[in-house]
Amino acid sequence: MGLLGLLATMVLMALGAGYYFFAMPRTSMTISNTASVPVVEGVSLYNNLKDQANTIKTTAEEQARETMIEGGALEEAVSVPAPVAKTETTLPITDRLMATGFSVPTKARTIDTIVLHSSYNPEGDAYSVAAIVKIYESYGVSAHYLIDRSGTIYRLVADQNIAYHAGASKMPDGRKDVNDFSIGIEIMNTEDGQFTKAEYEAVNSLVTNLKKQYPIKSVVGHGDIAPGRKTDPWNFDWKKLKE
Ligand SMILES: [Zn+2]
Repeated sequence: MGLLGLLATMVLMALGAGYYFFAMPRTSMTISNTASVPVVEGVSLYNNLKDQANTIKTTAEEQARETMIEGGALEEAVSVPAPVAKTETTLPITDRLMATGFSVPTKARTIDTIVLHSSYNPEGDAYSVAAIVKIYESYGVSAHYLIDRSGTIYRLVADQNIAYHAGASKMPDGRKDVNDFSIGIEIMNTEDGQFTKAEYEAVNSLVTNLKKQYPIKSVVGHGDIAPGRKTDPWNFDWKKLKE
């Protein structure tokens, strides 16, 4: 940079400083004069600065937009379809994961069956989640889900784990070890009781949700796959289960 250049730079800097020190306060003063109350002054100044900032932002955005149009980028962006609303409903499930009564498979398992069960606590509150889970623990069994009388769905075991719910069992197609390829759902009810409306709704929601995730071929009752040994889900009205 030559001496002339340096001189020019210094002049420009001086002008800039001059503008900063003299022009800025004048602008602020103009704003202050229009305001009658001190408090409003601050607000006016703030709004004024905000407007200025917005103008700069808008200008920058417009420029960017023009650049994009020139480059053909925006046309491509416009052709991208608008995001579609998520159709899958998120089912409310309360995690209450058990520490026992299941095994962790060495590789991802294929789930194609859902087994419905029913259970209750024979001593005290028949529909106590804690008591029922305690019974499962004492027998070393579990289920993936437990639905209470009000339709609340509890997750006891993660889907990918093998819950011990079916025991010695056999599918109509001859397959044994049903636990290996199934999801077990326990629904609270006593042997002579009836399931609640909320329970039917919860089962349907859960089964629908599972069908979206896995290639479910059949939904069976425990009694269907362990005849002579098991009879649950007691009094389950299969007509109320959606296809
Ligand atoms: Zn059962």
